[in-house]
Amino acid sequence: MNSSAERRRAALPVLLVRGAMRRCAWCGGKGAFCTSWYGRQERCHTCGLSWERGYEGFELGAATMGVFLTFGSIISWMIISVVAGVPLVPLLIVAGVIAVAVPVLGYPLTYTVWFGVDLFIRQPSAEDLESARAWLISRGS
Ligand SMILES: [Zn+2]
Repeated sequence: MNSSAERRRAALPVLLVRGAMRRCAWCGGKGAFCTSWYGRQERCHTCGLSWERGYEGFELGAATMGVFLTFGSIISWMIISVVAGVPLVPLLIVAGVIAVAVPVLGYPLTYTVWFGVDLFIRQPSAEDLESARAWLISRGS
């Protein structure tokens, strides 16, 4: 038995923190399913769990995480700058930079964090874990 594929689901905060650190929400494996900052493979390098798990709407959830991250950053910046009395032009310039930079830099995190949310909502089935185990065996892991 592969212990990484057999483990039980962690608590939601743990799943989210792992995702925010660009780790696999399920096993905590470094890099999760990311092959580069913008590249992904089908399964986690460490536990072999597929990030989609037969769910075609996974990418929509990741895109939603991107919207939350970007809009949350902009709104947070605007609240802080209004409270601190930042003039309008610098406020808008920084908000524009945030609107461009956060989606670019946060792209992989949207997938790994959403993977954590998805795992919380839909715990991996026996088929998911068996598929992960078979994939790991096929890789010789
Ligand atoms: Zn994993």
